[in-house]
Amino acid sequence: MPSGSSTPGSDSKRHRVLPVPKTVAGLRTFEPDSSIVSDIIPSPNYGERNKGRQPDMILLHYTGMPDVEGALARLCTAGTEVSAHYVVLEDGRIVQCVPEAKRAWHAGASSWAGEDDINSCSIGIEIINRGHDWGYPEFPLRQIAAVIALCRGIMLRRKVPAHRVLGHSDVAPARKKDPGEKFPWHSLANSGVGHWVTPAPIVRGETLMLGTISDAVLSMQQALARYGYGVPLNGKYDAATMEVVTAFQRHFRPARLDGVADHSTLSTLQALLASLPAEGTTVATK
Ligand SMILES: [Zn+2]
Repeated sequence: MPSGSSTPGSDSKRHRVLPVPKTVAGLRTFEPDSSIVSDIIPSPNYGERNKGRQPDMILLHYTGMPDVEGALARLCTAGTEVSAHYVVLEDGRIVQCVPEAKRAWHAGASSWAGEDDINSCSIGIEIINRGHDWGYPEFPLRQIAAVIALCRGIMLRRKVPAHRVLGHSDVAPARKKDPGEKFPWHSLANSGVGHWVTPAPIVRGETLMLGTISDAVLSMQQALARYGYGVPLNGKYDAATMEVVTAFQRHFRPARLDGVADHSTLSTLQALLASLPAEGTTVATK
């Protein structure tokens, strides 16, 4: 077919101009760390990694804002005190805002595997999605494919183990829901990104829930902590424990998010622990 017959509609969508915030004018640009970055929009919001900590975690977020323009403006404007290394658009384009060597500001108060300066140990990826407050649409496959490709490159270059590709809700269960239960962690795992086991089926039976005080609750808290979650170790199924169980379900057993530790939740947790690499169970040193 002659080249003149191409469809202008799909072409113009692919080459849609990025909404670059006016505030980035004058900021120094930089070389992208990943060869699949399509645009650099520099953010002034970053610092140095604490004590030269090298990143060995990838933290995934959704932007949770109604549009791309607003999300990019927030991440790239001085004074908002938020940023991320990368932003992945719905059409799969990847924007880099902060060099990987620097400490971007995406995690906030959070903890994982005994470490609480998550910004210093991680690379933050913001995925454009309106989030729970704005209808929470599905993630387009094209966008997920881009997230996978980006993560695979970072994992290879930075030696990030699969079980340290996490969601914001995993490291801040009391405050955050992103990237949320619609995020296709199983698809990522099929491509070697993230740690995953098929969730155990939901069946009737004994459960642990809010208010329970028992050795079984303590065992569950210890298992969650061994996996990395910041959870009380007091044998009480308190509100904080329920939030961690909900975060675990959001990531690893998304079919039911009720914060109740049923057989399926506990079995899935045990299967994840059993399939961690041996060194994965050690608490990271500060
Ligand atoms: Zn987030």
